[in-house]
Amino acid sequence: MDNIELNALGKINLGLDVLGKRPDGYHEVRMIMQTVYIYDQIRLEKKETPGTELSSNLFYLPTDKNNLACRAADLLLEEFGIREGVKITLAKHIPVAAGMAGGSSDAAAVLYGLNRMFGLGLSTEELMKRGVSLGADVPYCILRGTALAEGIGEKLTPLPAMPRCQIVVAKPPVSVSTRRVYDKLDETPVAVHPDIDGIVSGLEAGDLRKIASCMGNVLEQVTVPEYPVIEKIKASMKEAGALNAMMSGSGPTVFGIFTEKSRAKKAAQKIREAGLAKQVYVTNVHNARRK
Ligand code: ATP
Repeated sequence: MDNIELNALGKINLGLDVLGKRPDGYHEVRMIMQTVYIYDQIRLEKKETPGTELSSNLFYLPTDKNNLACRAADLLLEEFGIREGVKITLAKHIPVAAGMAGGSSDAAAVLYGLNRMFGLGLSTEELMKRGVSLGADVPYCILRGTALAEGIGEKLTPLPAMPRCQIVVAKPPVSVSTRRVYDKLDETPVAVHPDIDGIVSGLEAGDLRKIASCMGNVLEQVTVPEYPVIEKIKASMKEAGALNAMMSGSGPTVFGIFTEKSRAKKAAQKIREAGLAKQVYVTNVHNARRK
């Protein structure tokens, strides 16, 4: 196999709780992760000259080792002493610096794809172990589906699939640094912890309304006051019939859960027309895991 094409899917958090800060500076979290069908397209090709080369459709993304996709490729090329190189072509569609784990998902796809292309024979668990050195969300992005993520996000427990629904994703035109949001969270105590166990029991019962009613994200207390547009998008989605709407990850992306496609489409149109966000998608949850 000389080339392979992959979809790197984004995620939303149905719940995000921060339990505290560890002595090594990482935060102890409890998150419910859900893959959604918004994805980057990645093509990997073998090349004769050694090393990794990346090109993308977004001029402002790094094309060197600062790009997580390159770091993922270098990791496997070095470990397995592969003499050939890899050319990565990245068509970016997941909103950037938005709380949807776009970079982590690209890295996960590269690990998965190179394992196949070079016949390295690594299991999914072995790929996930390597992934965590690139970022706490990378193991989850390899696994996909619905999962409880604990520790720094790398301790994963697969959960029953999210019931069928429509998801509206809207990314307002502001960029958020994940690190800064966590630093600011340390300055103030967490006001309200979300009901993560309630979401888990909602998933176990296949009860979409229960899941929606238990949704919560402690990072909203940092990002929402800084960017009031997030609250406006949430309100607009709820007015348009969302069961619930919330910020994903450290933001600023907001997602809403809908039972009907027509309502989801109207909500998306309203958000665009009000100028609250340009990147607005109506999509589905993606429940299949990688084998
Ligand atoms: P998370 O949800 O994990 O916090 P995020 O959505 O906040 O992720 P990303 O889009 O993954 O953030 O990346 C944020 C930063 O990382 C960007 O500023 C970008 O320059 C850098 N970066 C490195 N590699 C990539 C990549 N492949 N795709 C997007 N951004 C990347």
